[in-house]
Amino acid sequence: MPSHDDTLISSAGVDADVGYGAVMPPIYLSSNYSFAAYGEPRAHDYCRSGNPNRDMLVDVIAQLEGGAGGVITSSGMSACDLALNLIEPGSLVIAPHDCYGGTWRLFTARAKQKRIEVAWVNQSDPEATAAAFARAPSLLWIETPSNPLMRVVDVAALASQAKAVGARVVVDNTFLSPALQKPIRLGADFVVHSTTKYINGHSDVVGGAVIAAHDADVPDLKWWANCTGVTGAPFDSWLTLRGLRTLPLRVERQQATAATIAARLANHAAVRVVNYPGLKSHPTHAIAAKQQLGFGAMLSFELATAPEHVRNFLDGLEIFTLAESLGGTESLIAHPASMTHAAMAPQARAAAGIDDRLLRVSVGLEQVEDLWVALERALNALPPSTTRASKRLEAAK
Ligand code: PLP
Repeated sequence: MPSHDDTLISSAGVDADVGYGAVMPPIYLSSNYSFAAYGEPRAHDYCRSGNPNRDMLVDVIAQLEGGAGGVITSSGMSACDLALNLIEPGSLVIAPHDCYGGTWRLFTARAKQKRIEVAWVNQSDPEATAAAFARAPSLLWIETPSNPLMRVVDVAALASQAKAVGARVVVDNTFLSPALQKPIRLGADFVVHSTTKYINGHSDVVGGAVIAAHDADVPDLKWWANCTGVTGAPFDSWLTLRGLRTLPLRVERQQATAATIAARLANHAAVRVVNYPGLKSHPTHAIAAKQQLGFGAMLSFELATAPEHVRNFLDGLEIFTLAESLGGTESLIAHPASMTHAAMAPQARAAAGIDDRLLRVSVGLEQVEDLWVALERALNALPPSTTRASKRLEAAK
């Protein structure tokens, strides 16, 4: 049994084809499977409940996460919703106040239906977190680093508080992937992923995964996935396994580039603040250094200029594509307030600290100097008077 991630990833599904000896796994598109005889089903009977391509993908992700097993879903959102099926109706969920906008929308909608109750909490605030734990939650939902502010919370400390009150712990590990963070080692009961992002890594599949830490939870996850029909498609699973094979290499290069860009942005006069956990100045740098295996390739920054200049900046920015999503080989830039977090109520966005001047960057595999030249040019083109005035204002605070 290989123990290193690189070996696990490279070997997953290799030379497993008994029919023809194909080295790389074939795609099993069939919607159904014959019974060997009456009363003798084979490993799979129907694609909604089981499929070899999904099995290969979930096995390797579960091994990378150190989990017992799990389910591949049709999207990251269906992975999040699937995890909610494991708690009783009306249970309290402690969720981060600055989570991904789609997660905020899902939990808010499920709460409106009385499926769950939600307490939105700043999980970096010990008093607010303690008050929420005192309300007997069933589930603690963690997203670290958070989307888009890159706030890092201490998973081990929160998980032990959750366990003390009998709550299960879910960590959304989308932003780092198992290459850079292992939440189960830190005490999580479940890990969810939008595999759309780093795990697939090529911006050509939408998918998700829920991995359970304990054997006992795997049948429940599979039961609900089959019951609600949220399992992922075979072709998507095949593509995602193909994308996953280069995860360690992609992430290593992308995070090195992100670190350089974050440091340079932090020194630019037209930038008010840079959110990158790898910067020593980042408020949760120490927690990231303790619990992560790297600082990742996502960052966000606020322009020092007035919000109306965001458009000029984006119009003048080359190489970076203005688009939702992240974790692909191409560099992307997003304006969370109008894009990824538009589904979040404006008051909730303000409470989370998502400013209209905030921009989120997913660093790709382009050459670092090309990326920096593009950013620097667009920043230098911003009106100098506003950038100086904003910096002065900031210094006076
Ligand atoms: N979780 C996080 C942290 C995300 O950033 C996203 C999407 O951006 C999701 C979940 C949802 O994933 P998907 O878009 O694959 O449904």
